Amino acid sequence: LDLINDILDIEKIESGKLTLVPEVMPVDELVRESMVLNKAFGERFKVRFQSHGEASERRVHADRKRLLQVMTNLLSNAAKFSPEGGVVQISTADVGPNARVSVHDRGSGIPEAFRGRIFGRFTQADSTATRQKGGTGLGLAICKRLVELMHGRIGFDDRPGGGTTFWFELPRHAT
Ligand code: ADP
Repeated sequence: LDLINDILDIEKIESGKLTLVPEVMPVDELVRESMVLNKAFGERFKVRFQSHGEASERRVHADRKRLLQVMTNLLSNAAKFSPEGGVVQISTADVGPNARVSVHDRGSGIPEAFRGRIFGRFTQADSTATRQKGGTGLGLAICKRLVELMHGRIGFDDRPGGGTTFWFELPRHAT
């Protein structure tokens, strides 16, 4: 079912048929909601989600459902690739005119040779690991397209001390 839904989403996005329903939404609310939605998934991998940093009034103009889909992909990847008992931190920040949401894990990191392809379709660094943990190799491709449709950008960095930080940014909505 996940695979079918992911394929349908990619098709819809690439044929230009995905209609976004933008609304002004607080970034903190997005983070809170995504943590509630993904808590049980995290527990399956014995991973806990924790928000980090001060509360803020930051808001973005974006499609709530689609942004939750992006967060769900990032949180579920972080959970899948974290060690058991791990904590995944979620933080928010201003980067120039953008609001950035970051998901920090202590997982295996992204192999050097895979980095250029990670946002491609049906790409997985290690198909054995993913076969065990589930996944389609489409999640990040969908995230990238959705974030870009909302005039944002997505990326990842090595996390000092080990693991990966995946982040996305969207233009901040003027208050
Ligand atoms: P999948 O459905 O396989 O998770 P994604 O497009 O979301 O598909 O991710 C593609 C691949 O990128 C994963 O299979 C994994 O190899 C790698 N990856 C994604 N997120 C992480 C992460 N947080 N830590 C380590 N590897 C990751």
